[in-house]
Amino acid sequence: MIFDLHTHTDVSDGALSPNALVRLARDRQVDCLAITDHDTLGAYEQLDPGVRQSIKIVVGIELSTVWQGHNIHIIGLNVEPGNLTLQEGISAQQDARVSRAILIARRLAKTGIDDPMPAVRKIAGKSMIGRPHFARHLVDIGHVKNLNAAFRKYLGNGKIGDVKQCWAALPEVVSWIRAAGGTAVLAHPVKYGMTWTKLRALLDDFKGSGGQAIEVVCGNQEMSATRKLTDLAGDYEFAASCGSDFHQASNWSSPGQFPPLPDSVRKVWDLW
Ligand code: AMP
Ligand code: MN
Ligand code: MN
Ligand code: MN
Repeated sequence: MIFDLHTHTDVSDGALSPNALVRLARDRQVDCLAITDHDTLGAYEQLDPGVRQSIKIVVGIELSTVWQGHNIHIIGLNVEPGNLTLQEGISAQQDARVSRAILIARRLAKTGIDDPMPAVRKIAGKSMIGRPHFARHLVDIGHVKNLNAAFRKYLGNGKIGDVKQCWAALPEVVSWIRAAGGTAVLAHPVKYGMTWTKLRALLDDFKGSGGQAIEVVCGNQEMSATRKLTDLAGDYEFAASCGSDFHQASNWSSPGQFPPLPDSVRKVWDLW
């Protein structure tokens, strides 16, 4: 069985529609898929019944939070979408995305760029607005060569367009997932650029907040990182999740395209 429990659609910052993503996942031999768009469950409303039945679906979401100045992502898996606590939390995060976008636009304007907000709204369309849409705009106006440079110079950690103060705190985000009967998973632990000591401090707080699992295997991850995360999952008695974090064809691994979880870890799906 191939489980891919971390993927995106164009309801957030991915390229494919929800139906197209499921079809691609099927083509790539994925047996069980979680669509985990940023701060929205909207993809699940768009799935055609036939497409939905073509694969085992675990309802998921990737929630943004901030911890000690780092942008952290918590995945909720197997959540009950109708849960009111989760719905209210998601609604607050969506408001936060809009107010954050306005702050990002203001900060970018201070660097001499014309107010990017109208163009960025257009690029985002109905999708959850986010930094990737600002990155696309900066490329469109010829301000940077590519998306990576946009993050490196303007939007990435510590850069002028990195506005963090909008999100709900870590314990709150975990509590929404738990209230909805879901499993709270720390996404891509090595992508935050923390020292192992700092990551352990995050894991302490995550565990204390009700976190139950970490992503031990994430698309395009070094084997040495996987080994370290395997040890950490064991130390903290976290279950292990895995996923591609697929957004689009370039730069991201394809659905299902990552090494299997090590035998020694407890699989997150064994909790369900
Ligand atoms: P946001 O959800 O608005 O905070 O934006 C974060 C998203 O930006 C991540 O989920 C990635 O999809 C994307 N991202 C982060 N860093 C980069 C990068 N260097 N190049 C392209 N996309 C990135
Ligand atoms: Mn993303
Ligand atoms: Mn993420
Ligand atoms: Mn993701």
